[in-house]
Amino acid sequence: MDAARPLTPSGFESGPLPADGAPRATPVMEQYIEIKAANPDCLLFYRMGDFYELFFEDAEIAARALGIVLTKRGKHLGRDIPMCGVPVHRSDEYLHRLIAMGHRVAVCEQLEDPAEARKRGGKSVVRRDVIRLVTPGTLTEDTLLDARRNNYLLAIARARASAGEENRFAIAWIDISTGEFRIAECDRTAVAADIARLEPGEIIVSDALYGDPEFAPYLRSLPAVTPLTRDVFDGASAERRLAGYFGLSTTEGFGALSRLELTAAAACITYVERTQLGQRPPLSPPVREPQGTTLLIDQATRSNLELVRTLSGERRGSLLAAIDCSVTSAGSRLLAQRLAAPLTDAGAIGDRHDAVAFFVANAGARGEMRERLKAAPDLARSLARLVVDRGGPRDLAAMRDGITAAAGLAAELERFPDIASELAQVMQSLRRPDPAIAAELAAALADELPLLRRDGGFVRASYDSALDEARALRDESRRVIAALQGRYADMTAVRALKIRHNNVLGYFVEVTAQHGDKLMAPPLNATFIHRQTLAGQVRFTTTELGELEAKIANAADRALGLELASFDKLATVVTAASADIKDAAAALATLDVTTALAQLAVERHYVRPEIDGSLDFIIEGGRHPVVEQVLAGDGGPFVANDCNLSPPPQAPHGRIYLLTGPNMAGKSTYLRQNALIAILAQMGSFVPARRAKIGAVDRLFSRVGAADDIARGRSTFMVEMVETAAILNQAGERALVILDEIGRGTATFDGLSIAWATIEHLHETNRCRALFATHFHELTALAAKLPRLFNATVRVKEWQGEVVFLHEVVPGAADRSYGIQVAKLAGLPATVIERAKVVLAKLEADDRASPRGFDDLPLFAAAPRPASVAIQDSAVDSVVAALAALHPDEMSPRDALEALYALKMRAAVQKP
Ligand code: ADP
Ligand code: MG
Repeated sequence: MDAARPLTPSGFESGPLPADGAPRATPVMEQYIEIKAANPDCLLFYRMGDFYELFFEDAEIAARALGIVLTKRGKHLGRDIPMCGVPVHRSDEYLHRLIAMGHRVAVCEQLEDPAEARKRGGKSVVRRDVIRLVTPGTLTEDTLLDARRNNYLLAIARARASAGEENRFAIAWIDISTGEFRIAECDRTAVAADIARLEPGEIIVSDALYGDPEFAPYLRSLPAVTPLTRDVFDGASAERRLAGYFGLSTTEGFGALSRLELTAAAACITYVERTQLGQRPPLSPPVREPQGTTLLIDQATRSNLELVRTLSGERRGSLLAAIDCSVTSAGSRLLAQRLAAPLTDAGAIGDRHDAVAFFVANAGARGEMRERLKAAPDLARSLARLVVDRGGPRDLAAMRDGITAAAGLAAELERFPDIASELAQVMQSLRRPDPAIAAELAAALADELPLLRRDGGFVRASYDSALDEARALRDESRRVIAALQGRYADMTAVRALKIRHNNVLGYFVEVTAQHGDKLMAPPLNATFIHRQTLAGQVRFTTTELGELEAKIANAADRALGLELASFDKLATVVTAASADIKDAAAALATLDVTTALAQLAVERHYVRPEIDGSLDFIIEGGRHPVVEQVLAGDGGPFVANDCNLSPPPQAPHGRIYLLTGPNMAGKSTYLRQNALIAILAQMGSFVPARRAKIGAVDRLFSRVGAADDIARGRSTFMVEMVETAAILNQAGERALVILDEIGRGTATFDGLSIAWATIEHLHETNRCRALFATHFHELTALAAKLPRLFNATVRVKEWQGEVVFLHEVVPGAADRSYGIQVAKLAGLPATVIERAKVVLAKLEADDRASPRGFDDLPLFAAAPRPASVAIQDSAVDSVVAALAALHPDEMSPRDALEALYALKMRAAVQKP
């Protein structure tokens, strides 16, 4: 907390809170309680002088969350009132932390000067009211936002299904700091996938959905979900509310939206209006996100592939960090969006590649564009602040610079006769804002700009003659004061006499204590009126000084008033052009991303991939975009590898690679690099390979087998199986599946059997392209039976008892796992290594004596029989009965896992 904190907040203008035991609330507390009652679900920041104070439970929550001191202030109904406070000048920082933890804050300001309130009588309370609600999904301030990430508010609307049907959902999402507004209708799984992709800052749902037993566990697992009353999700008034926001009489212009989509969209805008207290940030009209046009990637795959952050939660080390060469924050945000939602339409992907290819081929244009883009400010976010009247002079400057930069870039692009279609569109958008706006702003704004408009001084001299006059008067009076100081010094013969200024006294004459008496005695006391005696100084005022001060204050007030009027005028001009400016802002971001991807391609030797509608997947000389960069830093070369999952001749479906090889050989790296190349290609980037041809993937899955971690109350093996189940149930023939050591987390035979059956299922039922890494060598036998399964291995060399990793992927199977050699590298004691060798030799000898045979195992392919046939009715009944007796909410994860085993036993035992 601030050290300078006064003991009594200066805002307690209406006298003390009630004395001990007093039954009635003071007027201040009455006001507080009334305002708090109107905002029950927010922490109330209650302005008192230089602090925002929090009381009661709010104070307890905030003190804990922020680590600030909880104090007491007076009593309410006979009990102490807990209180804590944050200084106003540091409130952004505290707000930021509270919001990041998912709290909502209502900011309540003093709406008048305390002096005004005093005029109404001693007991009057300063008028206060909430001026805004700060919630995680509705931020506009740069200090509260991450410049490189979008911050979405997302609404989920549900239509309850009639019996036997699936619920239907619509989601709508808004970034009010940039104006983006989208809608999609989807099913339950897609809701989760979209939320994983968008990572909204805040999600709003109806009370009913929040309380729904089926949905509640999922919603509670997400950060910052806000349940709202049903009127916000009212379908009947949705269209009217949505149209009203945009000042339209109907939403027909937005295209045919279903009632459910309208409901979700209206919920978003109603919530925005409520949190902005009626202000309407500039939103683009809602755009329906077409279904099936983006590559679906579920949450587990996103985190596993470390797309936007690593498993430990950092941006560094993620794919995004490795490929982000953009020079503006808007470009960074768009790049993250594209990475989160790669496309599936070969034509649309090709358009993006065309644009990147243009800048790969034109190094001069690329450099020029990037240089100019660096001067382009964050237009979208500055615009949003100006429109909600939260902007400052620097936001106006951002408009000036952004519009100018856009025009310059458009002119630069124009020099090229036939640019790619995406760039032609960019060029048009860049030209849309009226250059007159930038010219007006350039004429109006000073060179050095304050952060806040109330600081004044941002309007350029000679822009407004009335302002020039007021400023001249103000400055002239200041000079007169300086002259007055000389005159008084002569008059009193006190050389050290000074005229000073502070906020309490205004201008005053100050002499050291030894001269004080002289000024208080005749004849000087006729001129100098005593104001204050301090330890070392005595202070006076004079009539003349008082008059001058009034003049200065008037002139300064007038100057500031004129500046504020100019600000409003300019902000109005900008607001009127917000659609054009937003368009240009989007075009700047696109141009930044395109040139950045070209830069990346040139610097890191990426090639343009071919994308089509086939089921091909041919990567020649592929590299891992992140590992490659890490190794480049350490000096080691990255070994490029090929991959071919295209359907073999005459086969209708893609291949599955079964990859074996010892630990540390590079299996996981190889698997991920191929997934990342597919993502990069489909988001419109070039790829780290010598050549790539990919039939567009529609769904991507990636899973890693985990060690069983049940001691920590959580079975990761269970998680692994749940995730594997999701893949086997969902992957279709266009999917790409990456499975890394599935089955590792349980006993060998269990794990091997699960891996075995999983591969058969992928091959026979999902028929997708897949990469499967495993340490179970037994699985390589499957290649003899499954025609589209190919064995591959990562080569290692044994050299003088040591294993050397070549990181080279070649056809065939690993001959053994080299576990002991790896253990030796890791520094296991020599005695343990020797002993292990002996044990291994014995096990291998036993195995040779009676080999484990899989050749006679009938192939699963023959019979994916429906479960109801396999299990007798009595077994079904018994399992159902056992299930009904379980209470999942009361079980520990361990209990749950045991119960699951018990259920399996029951089902297995009773088979015919
Ligand atoms: P595995 O999954 O087989 O145990 P990893 O994929 O985790 O092996 O790779 C182990 C290490 O080997 C990685 O951290 C990386 O530094 C290095 N590596 C992997 N693949 C390559 C490669 N193609 N070229 C160079 N180094 C590699
Ligand atoms: Mg691995």
